[in-house]
Amino acid sequence: MGVAIVWIRRDLRLSDHPALVAASLAGAVVPVFIRDDLVDQLGAAPKWRLGLGLAQFSKALETRGLRLILRSGDPLKVLSTLAQEVGAEQVHWIRAYDPDSVARDTAVKAGLKAQGLRVESHAGHLLFEPWEVATRQGNFYQVYTPYWKAVRALDVGAPLAEPRLQPPAAWPASEALHSWQLGRHMHRGAEVVARHQTVGEAAARDRLGRFVDQRIGQYKERRDFCAQAGTSGLSENLAVGEISARSCWHAGRAALDRAVLDPAIMGTAGPETFLKELVWREFAYHLMWHTPHILTAPWREGWADFPWHSGISENLAAWQQGRTGVPLVDAGLREMYVTGTMHNRARMVVASYLSKHMLVDWRLGQAWFADCLTDWDVASNAMGWQWVAGCGPDAAPFFRIFNPVTQQKNFDPTGAYVTRWIAERQRDPAETALSFFDAIPRAWGLNATVPYPTEIVDLAQGRARALAAYQAMRG
Ligand SMILES: Cc1cc2nc3c(=O)[nH]c(=O)nc-3n(C[C@H](O)[C@H](O)[C@H](O)COP(=O)(O)OP(=O)(O)OC[C@H]3O[C@@H](n4cnc5c(N)ncnc54)[C@H](O)[C@@H]3O)c2cc1C
Repeated sequence: MGVAIVWIRRDLRLSDHPALVAASLAGAVVPVFIRDDLVDQLGAAPKWRLGLGLAQFSKALETRGLRLILRSGDPLKVLSTLAQEVGAEQVHWIRAYDPDSVARDTAVKAGLKAQGLRVESHAGHLLFEPWEVATRQGNFYQVYTPYWKAVRALDVGAPLAEPRLQPPAAWPASEALHSWQLGRHMHRGAEVVARHQTVGEAAARDRLGRFVDQRIGQYKERRDFCAQAGTSGLSENLAVGEISARSCWHAGRAALDRAVLDPAIMGTAGPETFLKELVWREFAYHLMWHTPHILTAPWREGWADFPWHSGISENLAAWQQGRTGVPLVDAGLREMYVTGTMHNRARMVVASYLSKHMLVDWRLGQAWFADCLTDWDVASNAMGWQWVAGCGPDAAPFFRIFNPVTQQKNFDPTGAYVTRWIAERQRDPAETALSFFDAIPRAWGLNATVPYPTEIVDLAQGRARALAAYQAMRG
């Protein structure tokens, strides 16, 4: 019986895991997670959330008689040492697509192969590999709708069953997860944020099941209303691979098939829209693969000199702390601070306010999200910021400046979302709104009695200034 190592990264699950399946065919399986530089460089919240996921995944493996081995250091060294220790001939992993991971993985693959090991990377993070979907001319897609149509016409492979995993004859040593202190940069009340996390594969599967059983039918109508539980909440789990995109897709497809067969159950619009949203995630990876500069520089040409403010300022701090004086903007930022996620509509509004009304460089917002979101995703975050800032893949670029007041009227008409997250000016604030003050660092010096600020930017003036900057750039 041979031994195969599976290098676990953002794939904390046992089902639909092609690398585990391939390794299980070799014989005994040794799963390892490596705390390397890229893990160390993660923002505070994603790193902390990864730690929760690793603990849960480790438990899931233990119930199957396996262990998750934890090691720190350079992955090539760690994997070759581990291979010698356990007598492994094979190493498997699921691919990542951001440029830093690609560079690392390419070097690791070459190094391990040079040592005589069989090394295989597998698809598993997406529905399709970013290079598999191409235009008729063989190019990549730059616009979402044709990309969606292309994906819709393809067959998404069925999710793989959990393999039967055999342990090695003896387990190698492992570091202790708590010694890594993955939460040490959470200068906010991690115990407050923890209440809002749904961790692990079983929880993710339940979440998907509940969404498909109870909410997918109304998804199209409800998904934009900030106060409603109209969306799946799965981004947190997809981010660390506690569920696969294929499993989500097939659950959505099955709901769509049911709707087609029996329209009395639900219309097709809900499931169809859910599939479209999953494909936005795909599109983000497609763009990142073909145009990796999307992570760091304006995606569109001609934006290099746009006069965004890139310095640290009082206004930026006010935005980060949910104190712009614009209730929908502040509610979104506070929701993120307390829960680790933010409603998609609110993400668009806070991003538009920062990059347009405040004229602050979208990269500062992107970095703040990367530090605060427990569902942080390198590709979706970059695409989302560029899309809203106007320099990304959007057909209606800079002119679309979200007016946060109109957005609130349309998407939080009863004010329930704002009331949920903003305590000031309320006689009897909601517990959620108060919990913001438990979550924030003491250094911010805020509590519910500090008066709510007046608007830091006049909305009409901010809009006019943004449009003038755009016209000047075009000129
Ligand atoms: C400025 C900005 C930053 C963002 N940063 C992130 C991020 O770091 N991580 C992240 O997962 N999403 C990000 N998004 C996309 C989106 O806001 C979240 O995916 C969504 O709010 C997650 O909630 P949900 O799981 O309930 O989504 P649902 O509405 O239930 O959608 C199902 C799944 O589809 C995918 N999806 C939905 N909308 C989008 C979208 N616009 N772009 C890409 N994928 C999408 C997600 O994987 C999501 O879990 C960002 C959007 C913006 C505008």
